[in-house]
Amino acid sequence: MLNPGVEPRFIADAMLGKLARWLRLLGYDTLYSQESDNLIAQRARSEERIVLTRDRGLAARRGLNVILLTATSLELQVAQVHANVAIPPLTPRCVACNGTLSPIPLELARPHIPTYIAATHSDFHQCQQCAKIFWRGTHWEGICRRIAAAFDPDTASGFSP
Ligand SMILES: [Zn+2]
Repeated sequence: MLNPGVEPRFIADAMLGKLARWLRLLGYDTLYSQESDNLIAQRARSEERIVLTRDRGLAARRGLNVILLTATSLELQVAQVHANVAIPPLTPRCVACNGTLSPIPLELARPHIPTYIAATHSDFHQCQQCAKIFWRGTHWEGICRRIAAAFDPDTASGFSP
């Protein structure tokens, strides 16, 4: 268990873009970096981030907290990250930029969203960094179901390691 009691922050390397988006959706502060191993290691140390990688060379560097991802399916990767950190994730973050989301009322969201969404949804959030607006739609529900399945093997149909 890495730093129990501290809300974990991650930096995912270039091979793990999808995992980074999922972790943001779960509420984890997660940078996605396509920089060199050197720069990733530097940022991880200076910002106290846990490195997520499938690269054994990067994982073996000294002075880093690393989770070496061995699973290839997203569900199992999420489960593997989750198994290494103690804090359950809370509020979802922006999947596009890792910014924090705040709830906004329908009136403020309305000019920026399709009419049918405004008519059928009431729960809107806006990214404080890039101003993107999110609502709980079918895509979000689908991802939440897949994540739930990753944590509960009994419901994990079509779950391949
Ligand atoms: Zn954003």
